[in-house]
Parts: sequence; C-alpha cells; structure tokens
Amino acid sequence: MTDCNETLRELETFLDNELSDGARGAIHVHLEACTDCLQAFDFHAELRSVIAAKCHNDEMPPGLLSRIEKCFGEDIDGDGRIG
Ligand SMILES: [Zn+2]
Repeated sequence: MTDCNETLRELETFLDNELSDGARGAIHVHLEACTDCLQAFDFHAELRSVIAAKCHNDEMPPGLLSRIEKCFGEDIDGDGRIG
C-alpha cells in the first residue's frame, strides 16, 4: 500500500505514463481511497492538459514570451500607436 508522500512523489512520473503497471495500479488504489491525493492528481492532470493544448505539446522556447511582450511594448511606446 502506498502512502500519501509516496503517491505524490510519483505524481509527475504517473502523469508522464512512465510508471510500471504495478506502480500505476498501487497509485490508482490509493487515489480511490484518498481524496487529498486525488485532488492533487486532478489538478496536475488538468494543468498539463491546459499547457499541452496551448503549446501543442511543444515546449515554449525560453524567452519567447518576454520577446513577444517586448515587441508589443516597443510598438505601443514607439509613437503612441500600434503598427
Ligand atoms: Zn493520499
């Protein structure tokens, strides 16, 4: 039987589908009995699906977001109008 600490430690691996069948089964058993861990897993699973949908499964290149923000900032600051 897995305990909460062990279950939460395996959370990321579980969501990556990189656990063995046995380890996954143990976590499923724990989640059916433990609402706290179930909510934590639900939250992380939801978070991952949101990120995956937004990024189309690609990792956002580092610095891209700040470059985009900088471009908008320069346009707006430039002569007071966009374009
Ligand atoms: Zn638990």
